[in-house]
Formats: sequence, C-alpha cells, structure tokens
Amino acid sequence: MNILVINCGSSSVKYQLIDMDKRMTLAKGNVSRIGMSGAVLTHKPFDRPETKVTGEMLDHIVAIEYVIAILLSKNHGVIKTKSDIHAVGHRVVHGGERFTGSVLIDGNVLREIRQLIDLAPLHNPHNLRGINACKKNLPGVPQVAVFDTAFHHLMPPEAYIYGLPYVMYKKHGIRRYGFHGMSHRFVSERAAEILEKPYDSLKITTCHLGNGASITAINHGVSVDTSMGFTPLEGLLMGTRTGDLDPAVILHIMGREELSLHEANTLMNKHSGLSGISGVSSDMREVIEAGNDGHTNAALAFNIYCYRLKKYIGAYTAAMGGLDCIVFTAGIGENSPQVREQTCKGLAFLGVEIDNKKNNEAIGIESVISKDNADIKVIVIPTNEELVIATDTKKLVENRN
Ligand code: ADP
Repeated sequence: MNILVINCGSSSVKYQLIDMDKRMTLAKGNVSRIGMSGAVLTHKPFDRPETKVTGEMLDHIVAIEYVIAILLSKNHGVIKTKSDIHAVGHRVVHGGERFTGSVLIDGNVLREIRQLIDLAPLHNPHNLRGINACKKNLPGVPQVAVFDTAFHHLMPPEAYIYGLPYVMYKKHGIRRYGFHGMSHRFVSERAAEILEKPYDSLKITTCHLGNGASITAINHGVSVDTSMGFTPLEGLLMGTRTGDLDPAVILHIMGREELSLHEANTLMNKHSGLSGISGVSSDMREVIEAGNDGHTNAALAFNIYCYRLKKYIGAYTAAMGGLDCIVFTAGIGENSPQVREQTCKGLAFLGVEIDNKKNNEAIGIESVISKDNADIKVIVIPTNEELVIATDTKKLVENRN
C-alpha cells in the first residue's frame, strides 16, 4: 500500500510517498512560498537526485497538483498512475479533547476539525486546506487525520488543568493539550524495542528538540505530562519561542511597549527563545558556534536551553516516581552532542551518565550514549513522524473494509 503523507503549513506543504509493504520512502519533498511569488517544489525520489520546480502556486490545491504531477512524471516520478496512491495521511496539529486517536476523514470529522480552529488558529486552517486540496486532486482516495495532541490524551487532570478559574476550562477549553505526539510516541516505542523491554513496563522521558521543542514523561506507555500546553509556546526554550514565562510579564510589556495582541503574540513566538536571547540566530548550530567564539549572549542562550531541559527531566522523574530511559530526538536532539552533554551533566545522582565517546559519535544515528553501567539509559533516536502517520493511515484504511 502506497501512502501519501501530507503536512501543510501556511505557505508550505511537506510530503512523503511511503510504500508500506516495503517500508520505504519512494519520494519526499516540500513546496514553499505557496501564494507568493517564486513558489518552489523541491522533490527527491529515493533513487535519483533532488530536483526543483518553480511555478505559480496560488493555493494549496495547485501545490498538491504539482506534487502529484511530479510523483507521476517520467523523469522524476516514482508511480505510474494516480491510482497508485492508495491513501493519504494528514498531520493535523490540534485534535482538542474530541480526537484521542487517528481517524478516517469524512464530512463530520472535517466539521469537527473546523470547530477546533479556535484552539489552533495558526495551524488547523492550513491542515484543513491540505485535506481539501487532496480531496480535489485525489477524489475517492481515503484520507486519514493524525493529530499532534492525541498521544497526550490520557494525561491526568493534575497535569493538564491550569491554575485559572475552572470555568475557563469548561467554557473555552483552556487546558494543556501537548503537541509533537507522533514523535514522542515513535521514539518511546522504539526505545522499548532497543531496551528489549515491554513498552508498558518502562518510565521514559523523551526530548523532542527541533525548532519547536517539547519533553514528555511516558509512564508505562502513557504520556502523563508534557511541556507544551494550550499552545506550543509553553515549556522548553525554543528556536524563537519563549517557553515558560510568567504571564504577567507579557501584560507588563504590552503596556510599556504599547503592543497589540498580534504584536505580543509575534514577540513571544517569533522573536524570543534562542534567537531573542542570543541576538545571533534561532539555529542551535550558529548559537553554539558563536558561544564558542566568545559571544556572551549566545553562550547564555545555550546554557538556559540546557538548564531548562535538565529541570524538566528532574520534574518528570518525580512525576513518574523514577526513570529508566531518556531519549533525545529531532534536529538538536539527534545532532548536538553539546546539548546532550550539558543537559545530562550533574544528573549522575539520578543514574544518568553519558559516555563522551559514544555521545560525540552519535550524530543523526540511533545510538545508546549512556555508560554501559549507568542505571538510566540515554538513547539518541532519529524521529519519524511520517512513518507514524503512514502506519495509522494504513491500519484505518485496512480496517474500514
Ligand atoms: P523542525 O522542528 O523545523 O522540524 P528540526 O527537527 O529539523 O526542526 O530541527 C532544527 C534544529 O536542529 C535547528 O535548531 C538546527 O540548528 C538544529 N540542528 C541541526 N543539526 C544540528 C547540529 N549538527 N548541531 C546542533 N544543532 C543542529
């Protein structure tokens, strides 16, 4: 079964066509600058070099048209006809309390995802656009929605209710939802396989450190707490987001700087984090490089990043009443020995001890980096959110018949 995995942003589409029988990605790529001048499709078949196509892509429908055309094309294609796409799996950011797992998309599901726009105005509208674009381009092909929030749906109320009047939860759905669920699920399940222990017997903390970053406590196979909250802003320091912040700070700044709601939102989401503190970049590689070259604020940003991560590891060990394994994943988690070393430094009292040689060698590859005799295993696992989406899509489509 070939599954097209789609992840739509405001002006972008990321895609992968996965052959689930052979467990291989036939082609992957992305479209950027949709609706702007100079829209570009970057496409990589598994067996040929990357290619780029530019064109007028006014909306997501046209962008998906380009994607399908290149998947079918003579020189860069990997399938012969549209009917070789057997199902489409979509990443949908917010499933609210309604969606506790992946679902086949029908009219009701679409309506309910639309109703959730209020909770995720920055993400769900684009995900919906992707679904509609695929419906237009691939009529009759089953489509599945896989939600970022679903993995966290069993968090207990003490982890998800904020210290606000309870009526805000009831009236407006203000609570912690958590995100990056597919990644936390994938790497924690893989960690259990590597450790050769039943998934539901382990206490695992997974650190997803990409441009956005979150950490999750998975106790006996269940996400019991996670650092992102009502939106992906809460928790760890990120590339451009504040992470945890006294909410009064933003009210104060809005008053002093006369910021609108929109400007305050942009300040917290786009100009803060590594970028805001260092003044250098949101890219961890550049922050580390500048820090090494003596840039004080870059070094400070790096230290804050790792310190906050360490605090969460401690907190989640307490929340789970123990810890068997820490997983590092996503761009920074998979590729930065410096972040892993600094984060785990001083955690020997818990049983966390990193082997420096193994840590330095683990760049973008799966690897156990803790010392052989350490009580807590530390593992680097490259994430694969697309495979989670494709796996759920296949299961739902097969069970439908
Ligand atoms: P996204 O959340 O957009 O999917 P990624 O998971 O690709 O992002 O992660 C992007 C982050 O990974 C950037 O901060 C980038 O600097 C960081 N990164 C990638 N390679 C390295 C590396 N070798 N060392 C440190 N950070 C890295």
